[in-house]
Formats: sequence, structure tokens, C-alpha cells
Amino acid sequence: MTHLFNDPRSFREDLIGGYVAAYSRFVRRVPDASGVMAVGAPKAGRVAVITGGGSGHYPAFCGVVGEGLASGSVIGDIFTSPSGEQAYRVARAVDGGAGVLFTFGNYSGDVMNFGMAEMRLNLDGIDCRTVLVTDDVLSAPPDEASKRRGIAGGFYVFKAAGASAHRGDSLATVEAFGQHANSWTRTVGVAFEGCTVPGHKEPLFTVDPGRMEIGLGIHGEPGIRESELLPARDIARLLVDTILADAPKDVPGKAAVLLNGLGASKYEELFVLYNDIAPLLSKAGVEVHEPLVGEYVTSLDMAGCSLTLHWLDDELQSLHDATAITPAFTRIGPDIATATSSARPSTARTESTSSSTTTGESGGDTGNAGPWGIRTREALAAALAAVEAAEPELTRLDAAVGDGDHGAGMVRGFTAANQAVEGFAGTARQSLLRAGKNFMDTAGGASGALVGAWIASLGHALPDDDDTIDTAAWAAAFQNGVETIARIGQCQPGDKTMLDTLDPFARNFAGTLAGGGTSAEAWEKGLAAARQGMESTADLISRKGRASRLGERSRGHQDAGATSIYYVLESFGSALNAND
Ligand code: ADP
Ligand code: MG
Repeated sequence: MTHLFNDPRSFREDLIGGYVAAYSRFVRRVPDASGVMAVGAPKAGRVAVITGGGSGHYPAFCGVVGEGLASGSVIGDIFTSPSGEQAYRVARAVDGGAGVLFTFGNYSGDVMNFGMAEMRLNLDGIDCRTVLVTDDVLSAPPDEASKRRGIAGGFYVFKAAGASAHRGDSLATVEAFGQHANSWTRTVGVAFEGCTVPGHKEPLFTVDPGRMEIGLGIHGEPGIRESELLPARDIARLLVDTILADAPKDVPGKAAVLLNGLGASKYEELFVLYNDIAPLLSKAGVEVHEPLVGEYVTSLDMAGCSLTLHWLDDELQSLHDATAITPAFTRIGPDIATATSSARPSTARTESTSSSTTTGESGGDTGNAGPWGIRTREALAAALAAVEAAEPELTRLDAAVGDGDHGAGMVRGFTAANQAVEGFAGTARQSLLRAGKNFMDTAGGASGALVGAWIASLGHALPDDDDTIDTAAWAAAFQNGVETIARIGQCQPGDKTMLDTLDPFARNFAGTLAGGGTSAEAWEKGLAAARQGMESTADLISRKGRASRLGERSRGHQDAGATSIYYVLESFGSALNAND
């Protein structure tokens, strides 16, 4: 259970407030953004290393912001990727002129949102690159290692990149060390009990008493198998054997070792386990360097742990050993003298980071507004009501194969979409562009980027004159929406995503009109095809997004995004289905 909260919806804001109040000697809030930066950042001429992701994983990610480690962190809602806008703002605030390295766990929501921020920074002329953390051995086979999730081993990747940036290396070098650290880091985890999102009565998932899940993700993504709960010595063997079987080729004998608690497993239990792990590693010929036992990447109150090995050559060891001073982790390294003498006074920028953001075509707002603008805003209101009503179902569907945040994300997104057009009297196009952008900036997660972009892409395809809009214009808009999702999500129909609802909808909607059907018939046929598409996802194997790690185990569950977007289309139909 999570016991300490006020309004669960303000959990993230409240936790950032408390964190910054407690650790103001290390970090400060990034103005106008959901993130923190090191006191003293930006550092002129140094690469900014920025990490981040959903909250619920402390000390990941904001706990390791400080001297010699991350320069900033973007903080999402519980288990939900922060939006691209937030990542962009934190990066603008922390950039010291030598470029920005994003490094975070390999989750599609984070990849998409940080990816959008990276694109914008590059457009601004700021060199930005990304190192994905992919240490979770059991989340994909070795020949697909780049698809693996990032879990506790991210700590070592952040440390290597942060130390490299701190000593003044170029962006290319910091990136290369980050990649190298990631490629030599492996983690395997087990869980004994699920975790509960603040404000929820039920845990995100459960593990039967006396059982354990092997390879479970840090957001409750199901593991690869279940077994009876083993004694610590057998768990130690399982963890060590699984990691060593997947050890990278030609690594040196020396490795840093992290035994990480996931939230509810106590330090003493971890020591009991480490007591069995240490001799196994030594017997296997691993020279253990500065082991860590404790919480580094948690998963709210999940009971469980993970073991990470980070193999070290001389370069990685010097980065590993370098001084770092952050709220959650401190190491005094041989470089301490240099670290203090080179710490430069802050050159903090005070200009507003958002002033440079381009709102694209949502500026201007000069078109000819008419009834379509009104209907569009009604459609957005209807969609909010629909996803609110469906939230428990969406949470359940996403929890079965993902992390359970989809319902909350859609409600957050459509709330923001509606706020963006409150009191606004512009065209349909303008309304959708505003709504989509605010959705994207606010919702977070994979669906935040995708559904936000989908809404905006409908607007993009419409003329900025309500009088010239007809149902055929909407057909073109829905087709544009499909292409946008396919491009951003790198997906196609059959991958078990929202595209399986959107694509048949758009095709049947347009096909019915082309065959001489009325607007009402286009909606009816389109929605019937959308429903079928949505239902078809139950039999599919997930190939995109969080659920894709589960392979065959994803079958049997209808896709959460395919379901929510069906409700959205249905509610759009109720408002937009007008006689033309
Ligand atoms: P997250 O995975 O970040 O928790 P959500 O739970 O909000 O994101 O949304 C999950 C839904 O997003 C999935 O059910 C799927 O429909 C959709 N989705 C995820 N990744 C992709 C992708 N690459 N392409 C298209 N849709 C995707
Ligand atoms: Mg989710």
C-alpha cells in the first residue's frame, strides 16, 4: 500500500516539492518544468547528462542528480514517462553549451517522448544524443538485446556518463562511455509481491503467497516465469547463473555489483542474499569491485530484488570510482581534489525556456471559425467523459500486460486537451492542434505522445476554414491520423496497438463515403470496423510498446490503447456525425 498522499493526482508535484525542500543543497527545481537540476548547473562547457522517467522508482531518477552524476532529471507521473515538452524544458535549462545526453530506460513511452525532445533540441542547434539502458536480461533474448528494458543497471550507465561529462569529455565521448557501460551491464530480477499505485485500492499485480515471479519488470510487467518461493541461497544461484550465462563476450574479470531492493524487501534481507551471492561470484572467477547493497531503482512498494553486474575495464573503472555527490548516492573518489577545484560558479540561465518553443501552427488562429469548431470541442468533451467512464477497464487491460497507467494517462490527456480549448472559439483545425499539443505535453507515457499526436494530426489535415469542412475532409484527417501513429510508433496493423482500431476505422469511413454512403453510414461502418479491430487485438501477440516483451504471454488480452481509442472514436462520432 501507499499510505502517504493527499490527492493522488498531485502526487508527483507534491513529491517534487518535498524532494527539493529536503535536498536544496544538491538540487533545485527547473523553473516551469517537471524536473530538477543540480545546484551549479548548467556548467559552461560541460555536457549535460539528463536522465528521467516515471516516478515511483526513487532513487531513480532524480535521486542521482548532483555533482559528478546526472545534471538533471525529468520527472513523470507514477510509472509514466514524462512528456517530450518536459524533457525539452529540463534540457534547455541544464544545457551548458557542450551538448545534452539523454539516458534512460528503454520503454517506448520514454523513447518517444525523449525522442521528440531530442528532435527539438537539435532543431534549436543543441547537439543532443541518447543512450538507452537495456540491462534487463530476461526481457528479451540475447539476439534481441537492444530491445531489452532498462532496470537497476541504469545506475551504472548514468554514473559512467555523468563522470565522463563531469571531467569535461566531449558529447561524443560521453555518449560512447554511456553505450560502453550499458553494453557491459546485466541485471536479473525477481519479485515476491506486487506494488500499489497511490490512491489505488488494488495492487497493480499480485504474486501468489509462497510463489515468486522471475524476470518481472519494474512497473509490474509480468515476468517470464513463476516458481515456488526459493530459499535465499537458491535465489542467489538463480540470479548469478542467469547473469553469467548472458555475460557479454570478452569482458574482463572485474565487475561492480549491485544488489538492488525493489521497495519492500528490507536491507537485512538483501544482506542475507548477498551473503550467498558473494561466494558464488568469487567461485565463478568474478573479482567484485565496490559492491552496493540497497535501493537504487525501486518500484513503489514491490517486494523483490535484482542483481546487476557491471563489468569494468580501466576506463569504466575510473568513471565508476570518480567522485559523485548526490542526495541518494555519494562516492569520494581519487579525483576529489580536482572535483572541488574545478567546480565552477553557477551560470544559471534565467530566461524562460518555453519562450523558444515553437507551437507550430497552433499560433496564428486566424481561420474562419464555424460550427465545426464547436462540434470538435464537443467531441473532445465527449471523449473525456468516455475515457473517464472507461478508466477502470483501461487500467485493468493495461495492468494485465503493461503497467496499469493507461486509463489515468488518457484521462489526464483529455483533461488537458479540453483545458486547451476552454473558452476558445477558433476553427476545428485550431482546436485540434491546441488540444493535441496540450495532450502530448501533459499525458506522458507512450499513449501521451501517440494520442496527442493523433489529435493534432487530425487538425493538421483539416482546412482552417470551418465552412469548407465536410465528411470527406474528416476522412482525410483520419487517414492522416493513421499515418502519424504508424510513423511515430513505428508500428503497423497487427502489432496489437491502437492502430488496429484506427486503421480499419479510417479505411471503412473513407470507403463508405467513396461508395456514396452518407456521413451517418460512414460513422456506423467505420465504428463497426473499429470495434472488430479492437476486439481482434485479444488474439494478437504484442509487437510494440511495453507489452511486446511478453511475447506469447501477451495473447488473450485486448490491447488497452486499441480499446481507449475506440471509445474516443465513438464519442467523436456522437459529436461530429452531422448531416453534410
Ligand atoms: P506506456 O506503455 O508508456 O505505459 P500507455 O499505457 O499509456 O503507455 O499506453 C499503452 C498503449 O499504447 C498500448 O496499449 C498501445 O495501444 C499503445 N502503444 C504503445 N507503444 C506503441 C507503439 N510503438 N505504436 C503504437 N501504439 C503503441
Ligand atoms: Mg501503460
